[in-house]
Amino acid sequence: MTQFFSGPSVATFGRDCRRRAAALPSAHMNGTDPLKHRLNLWLKSEQALGLPSVPRVEFKENQTKVVEKPPVSAPAAPQPQRRSNLFGVAETPAPRAATASINASLPILEVPFDAPILSRADKIKALARLNEDSVKTCTLCGLHRSRTQTVFGEGDPDAPIAFIGEGPGKDEDASGRPFVGRAGQKLNEMIGAMGLKREEVYICNIVKCRAYLSDIGKDRPPTDEETAACTPYLVRQVEIIRPKVIVTLGLPSTRYLLKSKESMTRMRGKWHSWRGIKVMPTWHPAYVLRNYTEQTRREVWDDLKKVLTELGLPIPKRSGKQE
Ligand code: URA
Ligand code: SF4
Repeated sequence: MTQFFSGPSVATFGRDCRRRAAALPSAHMNGTDPLKHRLNLWLKSEQALGLPSVPRVEFKENQTKVVEKPPVSAPAAPQPQRRSNLFGVAETPAPRAATASINASLPILEVPFDAPILSRADKIKALARLNEDSVKTCTLCGLHRSRTQTVFGEGDPDAPIAFIGEGPGKDEDASGRPFVGRAGQKLNEMIGAMGLKREEVYICNIVKCRAYLSDIGKDRPPTDEETAACTPYLVRQVEIIRPKVIVTLGLPSTRYLLKSKESMTRMRGKWHSWRGIKVMPTWHPAYVLRNYTEQTRREVWDDLKKVLTELGLPIPKRSGKQE
């Protein structure tokens, strides 16, 4: 089966789009349907990889099995890559059998990513295209008005771990890079404590523009509307990178991924799953800085150790200075 985009089949996607668009009161920002927006992102990224078009799909209402027919001239689908990551951890793509019928019954955002994992070069191309063509010029929510620039994210496109924060602050807005201010220094320490380098992981945020209260010059969490407008970019980013583990930093990214209103205390330190990827929520580095207690630091370290164990990586001894 040739499948040019992961997640739901085209027929299922179209049906879900209509159903969800009708069901979601916040489905329209600036007149743009976020589901159409997501579809556009997919299509643009696939075009960036030179793929001709989405497959044709035959779909009958009461039929659980969706039959996909690739266009006659379609090139062979990219083969699943055995990723040679930095840690020499062999990665075997998940089996893809019967995904179409499973997908048909799952809400669209919960469907595990199941497209073949792209080569490193194709990931770089797809990420650059997403940033250049869509994110950099985005005006989908009000945050574009006050930004200096967007902050897409950075790191190894083959990273086994993606850290997802809340959104750019002052320093990130000025530099165009995620986590470069004080919280960023703390995040670097956390990554270093794991025995890793910043360049070996991927770092991004749920929104790409700085959210702040201009009258008092203070950063604020993104609103639900801003998050809804921006997260299609994050979804596509993660779909391209396909990390083995996501570490959510703080409440906004944890709540967004887990679709939960629980507190960090309840969610952190436990394994969750989002679209087939394991998720470990932990305290935001800015929170660690504000609550620099032995307990907070130990909790973060406990969470990060679970991530290392999950990836089969060695756990460095904790020095007094770490995290
Ligand atoms: N806080 C975040 O959540 N993200 C950044 O990029 C910087 C600070
Ligand atoms: Fe666009 Fe996201 Fe920036 Fe809003 S925060 S303008 S959705 S890039």
